Amino acid sequence: MDTSKQTIEEQCAAKGMRMTEQRRVIARVIEGADDHPDVEELYRRASEIDDRISISTVYRTVKLLEDAGIIARHDFGEGRARYEQASDEHHDHLIDLRSGKVIEFRNARIEELQREIARELGYKLVDHRLELYAVPLADSEGA
Ligand SMILES: [Zn+2]
Repeated sequence: MDTSKQTIEEQCAAKGMRMTEQRRVIARVIEGADDHPDVEELYRRASEIDDRISISTVYRTVKLLEDAGIIARHDFGEGRARYEQASDEHHDHLIDLRSGKVIEFRNARIEELQREIARELGYKLVDHRLELYAVPLADSEGA
């Protein structure tokens, strides 16, 4: 989303993580994705670039990057984790239950409301996750 942010490789280098050629390919695939792919999909895309990459390498790399806070893991209730590069810029997600498509959004009213709720409960909000599960309007009206 944010083009000014560091690449995954740069972040790994800053954390002193060893980057193999295969890890680089996987890192670039994650960076290039705007659809929150799961491990299977990352594997499919990475092996198109380098067919020596195995799914276990993808699993290990994703775990490593997740543990380092470089990528974010999401559970959109499908029983499989989906990933995106972690960003300082906050956004929430709407999941289209028909197509599985994930739409990113940010809403100032929701952000403020959540801060207000936390404040009323005696807390300062530091983070949140919000997922909307939805079907296209035309679909639900026809049902
Ligand atoms: Zn996202």
